[in-house]
Amino acid sequence: MSSVEWEEDDPFEEQREKIENPMKRLFLAYGRDYLPQVSVGILASVFARLLDLLPPLMLGIAIDAIFREEAAFDEQIPLVLLPDAWLPTAQTEQFWFTIAVLTGAFAFGAAFHWIRNWGFNAFAQNIQHDVRTDTYDKMQRLNMDFFSDKQTGEMMSILSNDVNRLERFLNDGMNSVFRLSVMVVGISVLLLWINWQLALVALLPVPAIAGFTYLFIKIIQPKYAEVRSTVGKMNSRLENNLGGIQVIKAANTESYESDRVDDVSFDYFDANWDAIETRIKFFPALRVLAGIGFVLTFVVGGLWVFQGPPGPFTGELSEGMFIVFILYTQRFIWPMAQFGQIINMYQRARASSARIFGLMDEPSKLAEDRDAEELVVGDGDVVYDDVTFGYDEETIVSDIDFEVEGGETLALVGPTGAGKSTVLKLLLRMYDVDEGAIEIDGQDVRDVTLTSLRRSIGYVGQSSYLFYGTVRENITYGTFDATDEEVREAAKAAEAHEFIENLPDGYDTMVGERGVKLSGGQRQRVTIARAVLKDPDLLVLDEATSDVDTETEMLIQRSLDRLTADRTTFAIAHRLSTIKDADTILVLEGGEIVERGTHDELLDDGGLYAHLWGVQAGEIDELPQEFIDRAQERTARLIENAESDDD
Ligand code: ADP
Repeated sequence: MSSVEWEEDDPFEEQREKIENPMKRLFLAYGRDYLPQVSVGILASVFARLLDLLPPLMLGIAIDAIFREEAAFDEQIPLVLLPDAWLPTAQTEQFWFTIAVLTGAFAFGAAFHWIRNWGFNAFAQNIQHDVRTDTYDKMQRLNMDFFSDKQTGEMMSILSNDVNRLERFLNDGMNSVFRLSVMVVGISVLLLWINWQLALVALLPVPAIAGFTYLFIKIIQPKYAEVRSTVGKMNSRLENNLGGIQVIKAANTESYESDRVDDVSFDYFDANWDAIETRIKFFPALRVLAGIGFVLTFVVGGLWVFQGPPGPFTGELSEGMFIVFILYTQRFIWPMAQFGQIINMYQRARASSARIFGLMDEPSKLAEDRDAEELVVGDGDVVYDDVTFGYDEETIVSDIDFEVEGGETLALVGPTGAGKSTVLKLLLRMYDVDEGAIEIDGQDVRDVTLTSLRRSIGYVGQSSYLFYGTVRENITYGTFDATDEEVREAAKAAEAHEFIENLPDGYDTMVGERGVKLSGGQRQRVTIARAVLKDPDLLVLDEATSDVDTETEMLIQRSLDRLTADRTTFAIAHRLSTIKDADTILVLEGGEIVERGTHDELLDDGGLYAHLWGVQAGEIDELPQEFIDRAQERTARLIENAESDDD
């Protein structure tokens, strides 16, 4: 397998290397269910091809019967298998017999071709569907780490390209395997049986063709791998540039980017040209080899017919059988050449299966306990008991220890990168804590089913993503059985009803990608309506009012106040005004809780919170130097981190 095809930072590489025989696994895991379909396909394919071989043979027989008085049907080699009684002796009868056989061969051949296509397509399409849905299912359950940008592209490519490539092999590839095998074996057997000596002459170039094809595959494969690698690089460059077109225009770097695209495009051209050069030499060379075989058969067979057996050959060769040889030899050579293509298809399918199973075998760290129970929320008390966690080796949050009583609101504030979102992701169990525990009404989040946990928690994040669909569908997402009345009530509570009514089709307006573009604040309120409708026991608001103007913020705040009234709520906010009424405010810095209390208490303390509040109130001149130094230090650290992430 070429290593170029798999990029170095491929997230599934480790799993993939452990997969020993992906095609065998594919057939065992998925092929088994469709054994009847593929068996029917294979049988029909064999019959169809055998019937395909019949017309040239009948032609030879008929020619002999017509031109050679002595060549009665029952004495001709290809017919000795049939009982004499079946074979006509008079010439007109023989003529009609031939027509009948030919008509039968075409009619049954067509029927078998149809059955064969049905069988192989049913086999391939069903497997493709099963593999795709299983892979998607598995992908959804992967940890959040997998959904960074690069890997989303990789997963899309597995779900579409790789799955399709499997289908191509399972249908076209396998179909060809049987077609070619029957042709090659069938024709060889027939030729050897009719006249083994001339058959040896006709088959003479076969080892040369086989060796030559093998050599061709060896040479062309790395070239194809290079083509795929360069096309991948070119696509990511194009994708990148289209995504960043605003930056390109603003920075006036069009010509610089054109040069970069020129470079990657030329690499692709170069790799492609290299492969093309090899490929276009192969077929003419093969034609020469095939031609040699054909001419040899023609010379030996022709002389044989005219003058009797030439040189070392013995026995007799009729004109009809000579024609059979000529017709078969031609049909025989091309299938040999096509084996190369099938091997290529097989290897690509094998690489694709390895990629698919690589993803499927990715262990999900958040495996549910076998005896996980449903989460039952009563008051909605939440306890973080000395929680420590890091995404990798490095600890991101440590000793997070607090309690929230049912119905209260807890706010998390602090500088960017302090670990606020991380603390809440642990509650949603996007990740598992390294040390300590998180309990909801006394139940550890690790002991309950993920479904019941996530059902109990509503989440309103900073980027409110809307799916392509109607406004109503977006609001009922997750609460699919809601009535229109409930949807309207939820939208009213979220201060969204009015603007939705004003959309072209009201609640039936298509939004999301390709739909009507809503503003950030409108999207946010649709998301809040979704949370209202879900009516969860706990609520997580992750900077729910970021990126909106002050007026919209006021509207959103009103809707949020209603939503959070009697619910245990966790809120992350940059704008401290939005959380100043929280029952408890935790101030995080460097992954630790540095202050805690109510708004008034924290202001009195005069610590980080009081300073942040001062900054937001515009009292920049009155900040102590120590606070400014710390802020500078922190931003420097953030930049450093971002740079090391880029490396
Ligand atoms: P906040 O919400 O306070 O801005 P976060 O919880 O988002 O902070 O991030 C805390 C730290 O964890 C940051 O240094 C950030 O780079 C890091 N971090 C966040 N998400 C991930 C992730 N998926 N993998 C690795 N590191 C992460």
